[in-house]
Amino acid sequence: MLKLTDVTVKFGPFEALNRINLHVTEGELVVLLGANGAGKSTIFNTISGLNKPSSGEIHFIGQSVRGFSPDKMVKAGVVQCAEGKKLFADMSVQENLMMGGFVHRSKKAQLKQSLAEAYELFPILYDKKEDPAGSLSGGQQQMLAIGRALMAKPKLIMMDEPSIGLAPLIVEQMFSIIQEINKSGTTVLLAEQNANAALKIADRGYVIENGTIVLQGESRALFNNDAIRKAYIGA
Ligand code: ADP
Ligand code: MG
Repeated sequence: MLKLTDVTVKFGPFEALNRINLHVTEGELVVLLGANGAGKSTIFNTISGLNKPSSGEIHFIGQSVRGFSPDKMVKAGVVQCAEGKKLFADMSVQENLMMGGFVHRSKKAQLKQSLAEAYELFPILYDKKEDPAGSLSGGQQQMLAIGRALMAKPKLIMMDEPSIGLAPLIVEQMFSIIQEINKSGTTVLLAEQNANAALKIADRGYVIENGTIVLQGESRALFNNDAIRKAYIGA
């Protein structure tokens, strides 16, 4: 479904990504693991069209999407749920969800259906639909960010560190929701520092260090890998 071939990204003289090769097959849940500053968000922003690769190719469902604008990527079916959420704090929960649908230019009936689906996935958002997004807890804001991204009916959803800053109980809930989203048919690319939780739900993973993929494989193999356990799982 998605394929990056030798993708290099530079910010001035600094090479943030060095010849990244990765792929995601339709239906998969794939995780990018890596410490702060490894390059996970840069990979997402490059797929989303926010960063332009200096070399390499990006294919999505049979076409080259290198150089596509963020808007065009959404239309192609790729939606990013950014780190830090970037919600409209003063707008209501429902208005935030609707924004996700507008980006996709959904028709009215489609919007209604998508809203119902978002509320089914996150009942708490229905209870708080009139409240300003900024008044929600951290976990609820993350749910809203995911709900808003799903309103754009993505084929591939990219979630950037959805568990960051959340209480342990909410983290568990968040990962089970991500798994549910994947099982209901949306392909998921996840960036995480929480390797333990992420590898439990992912099919496969890539480990990024300093803009390079240093390890990749099935989740189980990564989970049992000594270097990974030492660096990311702490066991
Ligand atoms: P991660 O998401 O894994 O924490 P990032 O992708 O955000 O890492 O960052 C990777 C590296 O690229 C870091 O060294 C970061 O400082 C640098 N970087 C990211 N975005 C920019 C930018 N717009 N301009 C310059 N450097 C950047
Ligand atoms: Mg990041």
